[in-house]
Amino acid sequence: MRPADQFLNDTINASANKEQRNVVVVHQQRYHEALGKARSQYKNEVLAKDRAAYLKWKVTENLDKYLIDFEATLIRRGGRVVWAHDAETARKEIVQLITKTGAQQVFKSKSMLSEEIALNSFLRSSSLEVIETDVGEYIIDVAAEAPFHMVNPAMHKSEKEIAALLNSKIGTSMDADADTITADVRDAMRAYFNKASLDVCITGANFLIADSGMVAITENEGNIRMITALAKTHIVIAGIDKIIPSINDIDTFFPLLATYGTGQKLTVYNSVIGPKTADDHDAATEFIVVLIDNGRTNLLAQPDQRQALSCIKCGACANVCPVFTFIGGHSYGVTSSGPIGAVTQPHEKGFDEFKHLSYASSLCGNCTQICPMKIDLHNHLLRNRRDSVQQGHAKSAEKLMWYSWKKMMLSRKNMNKGASIKNFMLKSFFKTSWGENREFPKVAEKSFNQIWREGR
Ligand code: SF4
Repeated sequence: MRPADQFLNDTINASANKEQRNVVVVHQQRYHEALGKARSQYKNEVLAKDRAAYLKWKVTENLDKYLIDFEATLIRRGGRVVWAHDAETARKEIVQLITKTGAQQVFKSKSMLSEEIALNSFLRSSSLEVIETDVGEYIIDVAAEAPFHMVNPAMHKSEKEIAALLNSKIGTSMDADADTITADVRDAMRAYFNKASLDVCITGANFLIADSGMVAITENEGNIRMITALAKTHIVIAGIDKIIPSINDIDTFFPLLATYGTGQKLTVYNSVIGPKTADDHDAATEFIVVLIDNGRTNLLAQPDQRQALSCIKCGACANVCPVFTFIGGHSYGVTSSGPIGAVTQPHEKGFDEFKHLSYASSLCGNCTQICPMKIDLHNHLLRNRRDSVQQGHAKSAEKLMWYSWKKMMLSRKNMNKGASIKNFMLKSFFKTSWGENREFPKVAEKSFNQIWREGR
């Protein structure tokens, strides 16, 4: 099935799943309450957002320079950089790096990029054991699902569902609450750490710091600190868009990410990690950063839309998006779901197969309003739609439909036709995309023009 057909299919099913929607809405309500409190830490939040948006704009406009700076500094400090053009290259490079160490197990932190390049299944098919150490990632790994939301991968699952899922895996009680579930997963991880040989860990990166050649990672559970301190080899996987200019900018980005990501003033553990120095007691002796493009340079090549590379993956835009709430993260069929995914994925994966995501929006502008990086999300969706048509991705049937629609809308005679004919036309035009679970809106009995003429 083509991604667009799959999307239609999945959205129809997801929109009928009220139970899942209720769970998502509860999460979103909690998020909004926390967000309000976290935002109160700012004396001048507008200035913080302006500063962050400017810094990321500067990086995006000069990405080649900043990436080379990062690489040079990291090498000077004793680390290594591996460049990967696409997902396949990245997977092969990572497996090769692990194989060289002789490790049989890999401890992983949460990384959306790892999901994007389907790393876990590749590692497992290469006879490596993969242990997810983030609670959310661990849950969806046990459930064999894709992440639902970029910050909260198991957002769609109720506590009851999660407890039942983990009961057979690690013996979590069937009526466990969120705190108990987190504690159980933490205990399971600690037991693993104690008995396993921690040779290799793979982490993501929230930011790559160009002037220091270091990697900034933020988390709430402390497991990243644990695995990066204990492993002999630390492999960082990061998109080329993760660069920030300087270590001095970290006090702008960490609080913004915490505020908009989870509604915290600051996440509990914030680490800046690099190659081991003589003063470090606990750190990997080998530190390698795999820099992955995987379509990001396609977006970089679009001057009108490249601003989307400023995204810090806080997930706030999905939390306020009525479409995301209704259809859920899985329906998008890509790791980066919600408004930002709808902007970036057609560029990164190809308009031919993914242009439909840019149409999955009400264009209400909630996403643009909340984005801490001031990304003009809803207008980028319109720009994508423009590009899609200009590049000839609209099918003949679609073009004919809109041609007929325009003709009809511009004809006074047609607009004054009876409501039953207009309702019939509406249903004929939008039958497939409207789906079976939604009732069609009914047009008014008389057009505005008719009412005006009647003098009412
Ligand atoms: S687009 Fe903005 S709101 Fe959405 S995830 Fe990225 S930074 Fe957050």
